[in-house]
Amino acid sequence: MKNSDHHSAAWLPYAQMKTALAPIKVVSTSGTRIRLDDGRELIDGIASWWTACHGYNHPYIIGAMQKQLASMPHVMFGGLVHEPALNLAERLAKLAPGDLNHVFFSESGSVSVEVALKMAVQYRLNRDEQGYIKFLSFRDGYHGDTMASMAVTDPGENAYTHVPGYERFREHLPEQCLADLPRDDASTTALDALMQREKLNIAAVIVEPLVQGVGGMKFHDINTLKRIADLCKKHGLLLILDEIFTGFGRTGSVFACEQAGIVPDIMCVGKGLTGGAITLAATIARSHVYEAFLSDDPKKAFMHGGTYMASPLACAAANASLDLFESEPRMEQTRAIEKQLCEELEPCRGMSGVLDVRVKGAIGVVQMAKIDDMHALRMQFIKHNVWVRPFANTIYLAPALTIDTQDLSKLTSAIVNVVSKNENKAAA
Ligand SMILES: *Cc1c(COP(=O)(O)O)cnc(C)c1O
Repeated sequence: MKNSDHHSAAWLPYAQMKTALAPIKVVSTSGTRIRLDDGRELIDGIASWWTACHGYNHPYIIGAMQKQLASMPHVMFGGLVHEPALNLAERLAKLAPGDLNHVFFSESGSVSVEVALKMAVQYRLNRDEQGYIKFLSFRDGYHGDTMASMAVTDPGENAYTHVPGYERFREHLPEQCLADLPRDDASTTALDALMQREKLNIAAVIVEPLVQGVGGMKFHDINTLKRIADLCKKHGLLLILDEIFTGFGRTGSVFACEQAGIVPDIMCVGKGLTGGAITLAATIARSHVYEAFLSDDPKKAFMHGGTYMASPLACAAANASLDLFESEPRMEQTRAIEKQLCEELEPCRGMSGVLDVRVKGAIGVVQMAKIDDMHALRMQFIKHNVWVRPFANTIYLAPALTIDTQDLSKLTSAIVNVVSKNENKAAA
């Protein structure tokens, strides 16, 4: 078989299959390492799209999955339940702040957002409140790649937002309300006015707390989040927090919203939920949301169900991951990573072409004015034996929370080195 045939059978994400160079083949992973089929080993700086928070192949998670595999890898969740899911739901309810007590499982982050949006719409309908059909979301926000989650993602008129292909689907996506984050008085007043004007049309407000990931690794402070929560309360709007990226320690607390002391009406989690071992997501609702679905009328039941939702194998992995958050010092590790990222990425500040250097929890960002040749840049990192995958104008790290100081230093020095080399090239 020709190489090209081989590659076109598996259609890759966000890739121009005609011109993309052959993707890199991986044969195994462990800890923070990715082993390639040519024998090279890369240090992973992004934990497989921010999932592998305990490192790859954590023996405790693998053990729990093997045990589950032997008895029941999967069974449907309609009308049947099983201990791994019941246990996980209870633990997530306990872990999530306030009375976020009711957990609806799904297969991926995007689906958990779809579920949250449907939940908000049906919540209104179940209370005989008509006309609440829109959602309010924020500039630079990203909520997934399915149609409804794309509709609440920033359409990306700003050239530096990285919202995969949004404009090509625009005509198929219902128009929503898009607002600037309330970072100051003017934007807070504008959001207040928008909510006042649209509140009878809006089923829910959705935002990524503290860090907007795919939209450019942009940070906002707890006051911005508090203002959103306060305005939602003032105007009687449901608040959905998308913690798919920020959840499970990434920003320095188990959930980012804890830092602002706010409890959303609905919260989405995914990515790190199973410690990166296998796909699983969840939509967690507060009691008052759940109660709007309790009725003698069967039509008021929540109308969603995924074939593989709450898969026992995935729930076993997630339970093991939560055990590790309890038994190992992940938050201390995150604080140490934050400190090291601050120190070691700092040299990039002031290099030509660098707009900003910022760190929050286990996320370190070097924002460039622009990246001309993305492919060449990505290849430079591979030459340094690190897996760092810049996008838009952003070079970032979001490593396993278990990464040791030496591996983290190799990642940061690769970034400093590559950015300074590009600086010299620009000067030449
Ligand atoms: C990754 C991500 C999603 C989508 O999750 P998938 O598992 O890729 O469907 C949604 N929201 C945020 C904030 C994300 O980072």
